[in-house]
Amino acid sequence: MGHAEHHAEQNAAPEQYDAVVVGAGFAGMYMLHRLRLLGLSARVYEAGDGVGGTWFWNRYPGARCDIPSMEYSYQFSEALQQEWEWSERYATQPEILKYANHVADRFELWPDMQFNTRVEAAEYQAKSGTWRLTLAHDDATDEVEARFVIMATGCLSVPNMPSIEGLDDFAGELYHTGVWPHEGVDLTGKRVGVIGTGSSAIQSIPLIAAQAASVEVFQRTPNYSVPAHNAPLDPAYVADIKSRYAEYRAENWQRGFGADFRDSDRSVFDVTDAEREAEYEDRWARGGLAFLAAFNDLPFDDAANATAQEFIRQKIAGRVDDPELATKLTPSTPVGCKRLCVDTDYYETFNAPHVSLVDLNETPITRVTATSIETTARAHEVDVIVLATGFDAMTGAVSRIDVRGPEGSLNDKWARGPRAYLGLATAGFPNLFLVTGPGSPSVLSNMLPSIEQHVEWIADCIGYMEQHQLGRIEADLKAEDEWVTHVNEVADTSIYPKCNSWYLGANVEGKSRVFMPYLGVPPYLEKCADVVAKGYDGFTLSN
Ligand code: FAD
Ligand code: NAP
Repeated sequence: MGHAEHHAEQNAAPEQYDAVVVGAGFAGMYMLHRLRLLGLSARVYEAGDGVGGTWFWNRYPGARCDIPSMEYSYQFSEALQQEWEWSERYATQPEILKYANHVADRFELWPDMQFNTRVEAAEYQAKSGTWRLTLAHDDATDEVEARFVIMATGCLSVPNMPSIEGLDDFAGELYHTGVWPHEGVDLTGKRVGVIGTGSSAIQSIPLIAAQAASVEVFQRTPNYSVPAHNAPLDPAYVADIKSRYAEYRAENWQRGFGADFRDSDRSVFDVTDAEREAEYEDRWARGGLAFLAAFNDLPFDDAANATAQEFIRQKIAGRVDDPELATKLTPSTPVGCKRLCVDTDYYETFNAPHVSLVDLNETPITRVTATSIETTARAHEVDVIVLATGFDAMTGAVSRIDVRGPEGSLNDKWARGPRAYLGLATAGFPNLFLVTGPGSPSVLSNMLPSIEQHVEWIADCIGYMEQHQLGRIEADLKAEDEWVTHVNEVADTSIYPKCNSWYLGANVEGKSRVFMPYLGVPPYLEKCADVVAKGYDGFTLSN
């Protein structure tokens, strides 16, 4: 179709685009680039006032990625990956945000992105076969229409606000890690209470403790964390990867978390006790998420996983001076069934006299008052509360948009858990795509390559439709049902359903307990390619 048809002047009819993209994180930015390469008119709407998504919002102290920088970046442009210089093994939030802005500059994305604009609703128009979107901005609403809608709304983009009585009455400073003030927060001399002990808490607590007069950490469930051993990048290492970047990427493509993960093809039970310990020690010394890939049965076999649990428990005991405190900080769940955390001095921080732990299993929070967090034991007086309470993951952002297809609402369809074919589309919602949606590897992979794979699949699909003059695509219910069953069957062979994690939606009150990501990058990539090779098998394409 080509360029946008601007009908605004005709009875203020909504502006028309070939495609609307919701969200300007890494998914939305690349989606825009690919749609423009197809010659389509496209518009990105973003609720925030800048690009970068996760890296725009999560500005808490210590925020950084836990995938090596050389892999946590786009690979679609050789020039881009050659020219960009990462400074550390794990990039900081400011550096990743700078990178996102650089990409927007380099590919001139700005004119087709609109910020401070939230997409509130998307309604399918049966007559025209287009989607009508309601936008909220500057206290006003507006409508636009598009043939295609791409939800690039993020898997971890809606903060989970705990429903603690009295939280609104707190008279001090209240922050959520996922919407941290852009100007930063000075915690010098303040008494800080941190609620939560997931990755965001584990990254921020050591830095909060470095500033604050006191830190009390309110822990409901302890998490396993391995040391990051972050360091400046060695120029020789960078030069080596850059000399073969495409090859390096291609090699990593087939592994969910890339080369640094060093997936093993050995079972825990293939080796002697001494060899197993040596493998764990080696991975501990190198640091990072690769610990989880030491043996191929850690995510699947309870007895195998128990050996990794025991190893980390010993390490925690060695890092925390007070044995009773070490026990409280030690999880009893399988390693990895909640996302493994990566830290710099997290456990050691509790050795400082001004840092303490409140075990909510012993003394649950009863309420927040104007000046304190109260537990069943006592009132903890604080100046600042940091909510490190995570996100309404995977479905939170899409479910906050009132999506209505020809047969009804998406929230009704997903009331008992999300259902999507390959995490890319959902039956009953034609021409609507999801980037890293439920049923795709998404959060169980390095997300940058997973985002690129989805964006390219969607762009290729739209390109195919344009070429063959097809106006409509919809996932088949049967294919979707079979895929959802498969996703669950694979999950049930693993440790993942055994913890109350956000992978299952268990962290959000009232959310259906369903395992949302797909476990297995190589079979997923094969399936996506096969679907295309068979002429979009499992989808119905029509004029
Ligand atoms: P996001 O970056 O979440 O962007 C989505 C955007 O959509 C947001 O800006 C949001 O404002 C916007 N949006 C949502 N709904 C609407 C709406 N209705 N209207 C308008 N705009 C809307 N992944 C890794 O692989 N490695 C890591 O080390 C890693 N670290 C992480 C650290 C943190 C603190 C968090 C929270 C996540 C991390 N992730 C990591 C996951 C991370 O979310 C992805 O890697 C990636 O950044 C997601 O990009 P995205 O574009 O899909 O979504
Ligand atoms: P999270 O892992 O969901 O952790 C939230 C924490 O808050 C948990 O400890 C949870 O306890 C606690 N919590 C929630 N509601 C509570 C309540 N009402 N009362 C007391 N405690 C409560 O969230 P996150 O730490 O923000 O991390 C989310 C994901 O983002 C990560 O898993 C990861 O994928 C990504 N991330 C990555 C990095 C990185 O290192 N690159 C950093 C941050 C985030 P329960 O466990 O008991 O529910």
